[in-house]
Parts: sequence; C-alpha cells; structure tokens
Amino acid sequence: MTTFDGQVREYPVIAIDRFKSQTGVKYYFLTHAHADHTQGLENSQFRGKLHCTEITAKLLLNKRIRKKQPFAYLHSSLITHVEMEEFILETTEYGRLTITFLPANHCPGAIMILIQGCNGTVLHTGDMRAEPAFVDDSLSVLETLKIRHLYMDTTFCAQQFDNFITKDKAIELLIDLVQKSPKDQQFYFDFWMYGHEELWFAIAHTFDSKIHVSPERYHLYCSAHSSYNEVLTLDSNVRFHSCRWQSPCCQLSNKTICIYPKPTTDPGMRLYENEEYLLRTDLPRNAQLDQYLVLPFSMHSSLSEIVGFIKYVRPSRLTATVAHGKWNQVEYMRNLLSLHGADVFSSGNQSSSSNNDSSSISLLIESADDESNTTQDTYLFSDENDPVPEPPTKSQPTKYDRAAAKFRERYSKRKTIHVSTLETLTWHGSSIEELAVPTKNDGIKEQQQQQPKDNDTSRESLQSVSGNNKKAKIEQHQSAKTPIVICLD
Ligand SMILES: [Zn+2]
Ligand SMILES: [Zn+2]
Repeated sequence: MTTFDGQVREYPVIAIDRFKSQTGVKYYFLTHAHADHTQGLENSQFRGKLHCTEITAKLLLNKRIRKKQPFAYLHSSLITHVEMEEFILETTEYGRLTITFLPANHCPGAIMILIQGCNGTVLHTGDMRAEPAFVDDSLSVLETLKIRHLYMDTTFCAQQFDNFITKDKAIELLIDLVQKSPKDQQFYFDFWMYGHEELWFAIAHTFDSKIHVSPERYHLYCSAHSSYNEVLTLDSNVRFHSCRWQSPCCQLSNKTICIYPKPTTDPGMRLYENEEYLLRTDLPRNAQLDQYLVLPFSMHSSLSEIVGFIKYVRPSRLTATVAHGKWNQVEYMRNLLSLHGADVFSSGNQSSSSNNDSSSISLLIESADDESNTTQDTYLFSDENDPVPEPPTKSQPTKYDRAAAKFRERYSKRKTIHVSTLETLTWHGSSIEELAVPTKNDGIKEQQQQQPKDNDTSRESLQSVSGNNKKAKIEQHQSAKTPIVICLD
C-alpha cells in the first residue's frame, strides 16, 4: 500500500495516485485502479483533470461499492492515454513536459509514468512487478535514458520476500493441477482484486471453457475490454468459477478446489494452513471445499526484482513509495540494501549541492499507540530535493530541528510508531556493482559463520528491526564500491 504523498519532487505541479488537496498540484495522474491508489477520489471530492489509461478509467467509472458507483462522477474529468505513446503536458511552471505511460505488469490498465522535462527525467512505477523477462521485453526504452529520480514500488522490499516464482510459472502450476484432476472436478478461483486476470485467460484458453462470474464482475470487466467476453460467462454450468459464491453453482458441490493466489515465496502450490493470514476472500465461511490451495502469485516485485530493476534503471535518486510499518522500516531497508552489496550512508555523509526548485518534502508521521492508524501530526520539512549536508553549527534551531526533536522525543516514548514517510535512497556513482540477491541455495549457513560477529552492526540492526521476519536469512555483506546514500531527514 503506497505511503508516498504522490507529489513529484522535480515537478511538484504533478501528483500521482494521491488526490487530496496539496499545495501547488495542478495535474493529477492515476497509475491503476486499486483502492489504495484512488484515495481522495471518492464521494465527489475531486475537482480537476485526471490522466490514466482507458482501462483504468473504465474500471474506475464502473466500479460498484455497495450498489453505488462512487467514481461515476469523474466521467468528464478523465483524460486517457495509450501505453508507450508520448504526450505533452504544457505547464506554466516547467514548460513542456513529455509524458509516457509504460506497462507495469501489475493489473489491467496499470502503468508506470515517465516524465521528461527541464528538471530531468523521472520515473514513477506505481505498483509494478519487475520480472526480468518483462523488463527486457517491454521496458528496454529505459536503458537509453538517464533517470534522475525513480519513485519505486517497494511493497516487498524485505528479506522474507527475496524471490517469487514468475507469473508464467504460477500459470503453469495451475494448468498442471487442472490437467491432472478428474474432468468433473470444479475449481473456484478466489480472485477478489484486480491483477489475477492472466490466470483466467490461461485457464479459459487452455481448457476451452469460460469462467463463471457474478453479473457485476462480468459487466465491469467486459465494459473495460472486449477480450473479457471470451473468458468470462454468466452461465454457471461450467467447471471454473470466480463468482463470489453467491450462486448455487459451487454450493451444490463439495468437490470444489479453491485456488487462492498469494504473494509467497513458496516454490509451488500448497494447502492453505488453518488460520493463515488472507488479505481478503470472496469465500463464505461455510463454503464446502475439496481442497483449499494457495498459489504463489505476486503482482508486486520480489526483493531480488526490486534490486534488479534499480540496477537496470540506474537512477540518480530513489524514493521508496511504500514504507509502511514502523519507523525502523527505514533502517531495515537501508541495512537490507547494505547486506545485498551496497554501502549506505546517511544524508549527513553526503556532500552535494542542489540546483533544483524549492519544492518542499513532506514527512507525514502517522503515530499511533494502537492499530487505529490515526494521523496525529504532520510535519512539513523544507528541503532542496537533494541530499543536503548537516550544517556544522546551528545557532538558531530551524523548523526542521524543532520538528525532528519533537519526533525523536515522541519516538523514544513509544514502542511502535506507524510511519508514512518519504525515504530517498540515492545511487552514488556511475558504475553499480552487482546487487543481485543470492538465491536460497547460496550457502547461507556458511556465510553466516563467516560473518564477523562483533562489528557487523548492519546485520544486527537488520535482525533487530525485522520484527516478524524470524526466518530472515543473512547474506554475506559484499564490500561495495558504489554506495547507496539514503537521505532520510
Ligand atoms: Zn496495486
Ligand atoms: Zn459460479
């Protein structure tokens, strides 16, 4: 879930995936139709023009929540563009900006946004799955560009998500399962959110049978793109279902195998374990099932894919757009990257000057003692966009100092602090060393034994902040020649 405030630092007139009022924002972009990216659009709140793809526009306009269409009022506000076709945004502040939507390999209509203009080229990934084959096939345009700032989906930038099987492999697993099952075996695909449609297409085409869905789902998808007519049906007399279980088709049979796609590092399908965490499900509690299977399937990049994509793009700066959790998530990510071969420094170690515009960087601190997630304080920090060295002495405390001191004080008193913040990681140097994440078979135990125990603070910190990552595997810390600089404050 994105925690970035959406305002593009190089072109602060542009906001991506955030639609609450922000100072200076004039142009709005939506990367895809998932709910965490449409905050501020509900209930007729939004005024302005909104750029997105045609599929995203249709999914948004036709989306029903409790029989209402909360985004239908946007029908005259949406401006749609085609993937891979440049268009021009004329701005008074930054002149002509060339915008290109690039595919994101995430869900129907999802795109990344490439912005080229007077303040350099920036890329906002939205949500994405950076599978190596997809990057090679569809994003080669990035190889020739000098990306100044990459706003990166870091949803699974954590050691426990080091590798996912590819989507193609997941499709193979599913097809294999169906092929080996009796011909009268029914399947229920618990695809409750956008992003699993490739599995529908593969099943429908391989077995020449459509998938039964609810009338709402049928009309939503078929109005978004005509190709869904070929794979979805309202006829319940079929083998495959994603019908929200409300029709009698599945209830009559306890011979149904339910497939739940989940972003896990499992190499293959496995039985659902009792009480296992599920984000959501369309299944009722009383559903009678033959088997309940978890299919490893992710629409976000694994840790190794995140690292691989950063290496491919070679940006000058990197902002993590997802940094949920506790304050120490920042430290965790920094140490994680360090452990995978890049030295990291705080902004105070980085000397650089800035010639950018004077846009502000906002640090939104969601502080909560409980899980209520209530935003209690918002501090706005002035920043010059690039890492700025700490001033040697300060006679007068600045707004920054006061806010930082206040935050540290609050932080020291709490065990858990939920933070939404901007984190900027900066590549330093032109030649990027190998950042490939070792695979599970790379002799982790041996490496652990070789680790110095006393002074490896990065490793200790990683372990101490990893929280629920009890199985965190520690990789050998390569000595990196090209540091990553992380600018936090
Ligand atoms: Zn998404
Ligand atoms: Zn059905």
